[in-house]
Formats: sequence, structure tokens, C-alpha cells
Amino acid sequence: MRPIIEDLENPMVCFSEQRGPKVIGKCACGCGEEIIDGYEHIFWDGYYFDDYECLMRFIGAEWRDV
Ligand SMILES: [Zn+2]
Repeated sequence: MRPIIEDLENPMVCFSEQRGPKVIGKCACGCGEEIIDGYEHIFWDGYYFDDYECLMRFIGAEWRDV
């Protein structure tokens, strides 16, 4: 018997097909992006963010030339 994983070209695709994307919630910054289980997101102080720009927006940080 072979491990099932060897039959998969892309484990992530199969994972999605079997269970479907599990949406945990929306990005805390208010942009509307969904936070989906199994993907990388930024976690900060109990909140999930789609990207670092969302976290920056949420905490009021900004890029600034110095
Ligand atoms: Zn966001």
C-alpha cells in the first residue's frame, strides 16, 4: 500500500475540493477579504488580517519617507 499523499499532485487543491474553503471570518480591517482556514494570514492581538497592509490600516500605521 502506498500513502495516499503520493497520488496527489497538489495536496492543497485536493484539500479544498474535499472540504471546501472554510471561512473563519472577515479581515479585521474592514476591507471585506475573507479569512480562510488553511491559508496564511496575519494574526495580531486576536484579529486576523488578509495582508500586512490591512494590519497597518487597522492600527493606524503608515509608510512614511524619513
Ligand atoms: Zn483587510
